[in-house]
Amino acid sequence: MIQDQFGRLHNYLRISLTDNCNLRCFYCMPEEDYDFTPTSRLMQTNEIVALARTFVDLGVTKIRLTGGEPLVRKDAAAIIAQLSELPVQLTMTTNGTRIKALLPVLKDSSIRSLNVSLDTLQAEKFFFMTHRDQFHGVMEGIQLLLDHHFHVKVNVVVIHDLNDNEINDFIAWTKDTPVHVRFIEFMPFSGNRWSSNQVVGYRDILEIIGQKYAFEALPGLKNDTAKAFHIPGHQGSFAIISTMTAPFCEGCNRIRLTADGKLKNCLFSKGEMDLLTPLRNGMDIIPLIHQNIAEKAERLGGQFTPEDFEKMVGSAIENRSMITIGG
Ligand code: SAM
Ligand code: SF4
Repeated sequence: MIQDQFGRLHNYLRISLTDNCNLRCFYCMPEEDYDFTPTSRLMQTNEIVALARTFVDLGVTKIRLTGGEPLVRKDAAAIIAQLSELPVQLTMTTNGTRIKALLPVLKDSSIRSLNVSLDTLQAEKFFFMTHRDQFHGVMEGIQLLLDHHFHVKVNVVVIHDLNDNEINDFIAWTKDTPVHVRFIEFMPFSGNRWSSNQVVGYRDILEIIGQKYAFEALPGLKNDTAKAFHIPGHQGSFAIISTMTAPFCEGCNRIRLTADGKLKNCLFSKGEMDLLTPLRNGMDIIPLIHQNIAEKAERLGGQFTPEDFEKMVGSAIENRSMITIGG
């Protein structure tokens, strides 16, 4: 059992497979010529499986693979196959560009639900936001997942004056398509040029949707990071991840492992614990895991509060960039 000083049980591990990516979302990757971590410094397949097993022995019941883009890693298929053997709910967050290529691997795995990131329903804006011409490939990937009966959540980072005018287009999409759209408040990370006036908060998102649709709140669970809603007659649903304006720290059960094997006890934690080097040196990593989780801050990595984020300057946050954390 992995418990912190506030009594929160940690049973959900998010493993970043790589900091490499085939898109260049400006809010995630600090610059176009970012140097990806050399493969030798990344956790190798056997190391990922060994670390995952240790966490499962300590009570982890859910593992999400993320990145960077998890499906650009050359041994993604082997990693997915081996983690599928573990007694956990295995899931993934992907940008959707490689779903077609890896569909047989996903179908053979224990993954039944995926989060696919898509911030716009307009091909041109997709290019502007990601610097890559992949909109139609992502849409095709989402459709393939639906055709093969995967549960699909679509992550939309909402940014003021960029895609907030598409909120109700995403809602309209859920009418006849069983996708579960999750609007995410824009978060500050190292180098992502965040400013508080670009954040579209939970209440504003609900207000925009309320101007056009009548919605009902869906019951939530203690560890949920999203507040979910349903619109009568829609096959899909929507949710809001309000990390900035109404965080979910009280019920947090998440631990993150970066692609270079560092444990982060919070998305916003300043510190991290190297597990890969001790693992390679044959040391017992279990005390290190407990130590790192015991040091977890009560909320938002101890770096800001929902009350003061509007005055905050993004560069004041001491953290990695999102692409090197694993969202
Ligand atoms: N490449 C995969 C993808 O795009 O889904 C997985 C990694 S990505 C870092 C994980 C999630 O973090 C994505 O949904 C992405 O939109 C989200 N994300 C990245 N930077 C963010 C930011 N600054 N604020 C809010 N969400 C962010
Ligand atoms: Fe790549 Fe995902 Fe970051 Fe976009 S959000 S740059 S797809 S890792």
